[in-house]
Amino acid sequence: MFQVGCLCACYLAKRGHEVEVYEYRDDIRKSEFVRGRTINLSLSARGIQALKAVGLGDKLVSSHGIPMKGRLIHNLDGSRHAIPYDPRHDQVCTYSVSRKYLNEFLLNATEKDFNVKLHFNHKLINANLQEGCMTFQLMVTNETVMRSADLIVGADGAFSTVRRHFMKSPMFNFSQTYIEHGYVELCMPPGEDGEFVMEPNYLHIWPRGTFMMIAMPNQDRSWTITLFMPLTQFQVLDCPTRLLKFFKQQFLDSVPLIGKRRLVTDFFATKPSTLLSIKCNPYHLSSRTVIIGDAAHAMVPFYGQGMNAGFEDCRLLDQLLHRYEDIAVVLKEFSAIRNTDAEAICDLAMYNYLEMRDLVNRRSFLLRRKVDNLLFRLLPKIWIPLYTSVAFTTVGYRQCMDNKCWQDKVIRWTLLALGVLGTALCAAGIYHWHRMTLTEKF
Ligand SMILES: Cc1cc2nc3c(=O)[nH]c(=O)nc-3n(C[C@H](O)[C@H](O)[C@H](O)COP(=O)(O)OP(=O)(O)OC[C@H]3O[C@@H](n4cnc5c(N)ncnc54)[C@H](O)[C@@H]3O)c2cc1C
Repeated sequence: MFQVGCLCACYLAKRGHEVEVYEYRDDIRKSEFVRGRTINLSLSARGIQALKAVGLGDKLVSSHGIPMKGRLIHNLDGSRHAIPYDPRHDQVCTYSVSRKYLNEFLLNATEKDFNVKLHFNHKLINANLQEGCMTFQLMVTNETVMRSADLIVGADGAFSTVRRHFMKSPMFNFSQTYIEHGYVELCMPPGEDGEFVMEPNYLHIWPRGTFMMIAMPNQDRSWTITLFMPLTQFQVLDCPTRLLKFFKQQFLDSVPLIGKRRLVTDFFATKPSTLLSIKCNPYHLSSRTVIIGDAAHAMVPFYGQGMNAGFEDCRLLDQLLHRYEDIAVVLKEFSAIRNTDAEAICDLAMYNYLEMRDLVNRRSFLLRRKVDNLLFRLLPKIWIPLYTSVAFTTVGYRQCMDNKCWQDKVIRWTLLALGVLGTALCAAGIYHWHRMTLTEKF
């Protein structure tokens, strides 16, 4: 369990079930700093709505979310421009939330508000999922303990042990794809006055074609910076001199803000992390086990939807538990409904990397954005741009993708029609002019 497991536990407890949560790691509320995963996450409509359904959304957003109302692009020549998420309303935004705070908030809610029993330092090592039996290794004493449950929810992340036990079951499909790009996290501290050194209410992006850097604001007025790049390119930056030269060429404005010494220390403190996308189907095994969150559909992080999609899983599961009494039907429906949408967002996340690192700087993209915004203003119920529908609505991800496809077709056909019309008008003009000159001659 983590974010997604915690939220699911809250949902199930709210329905009156006795829920127990098992976690491999120690209680993060006791540790100062957890290294390994991004420091902050972007929380958007789907995640907020799923949190709100168990009464957790408002508090989290109001006290710990920093609104980001659009992208702020840093060009190579030092110029910058903002691309608002929704030019019609300033309030339309995603929220940057600290991962550590979010995890602590959810753990407290799970334990205190919903009376769920939490067991830390319990690593799932084996399971008989048909029978609902699990074997855990206690990380402190090395002992093993057996536990059983009527329903097992595997929310154990991209390298899920629960999912591993699905592998041998017939008709279970699985694929995983590592992309050739990895990432390194850096920190941009607050200024001397303790304030943000860049405009706080934006997702800052330095798009550079084959790679990019992004920055998201933190509550302590610092920025978490993530550099995404081909792993081979990281290898080239093997000493402080090369690193600083690269940063001065590519991200000059960021160097004094991060500080040269901090940049070098943070960059060489860890190896670049890899990124992968996982698709599988179905998400359930018999009527006893279901996988959710990254265990079911890990995605590359470029749409900021991994956690949001995991939270949406919890809401869907809850809706199905409300709709059907038979748990076998619930799990079957969950797999059927969720898989299409989950695979769509995995694909969209791949596409968005291209948009963020490259397309955002192209004239054709900016023009398309203007057309989208104009049509969205005129037909807000019909023409919803892709990013808006993914981040600010709860329309199924597959539907968001399909909408983009028909919108692309409309634009293509309109351009074609305009082209044909223009050509026809030109031809008519030339013909008319030709006839006029012939008439004058005779
Ligand atoms: C660089 C990066 C940036 C991201 N940014 C965003 C973002 O802005 N917005 C967003 O929505 N998503 C983002 N994501 C995705 C997001 O982090 C994940 O989708 C989300 O954290 C998945 O949550 P989860 O609870 O399913 O899995 P996890 O957070 O991986 O939790 C799984 C838990 O299961 C435990 N576990 C694993 N194996 C066992 C075992 N055998 N026994 C017991 N316990 C076990 C682990 O210790 C862990 O606590 C980002 C991801 C990355 C890599």
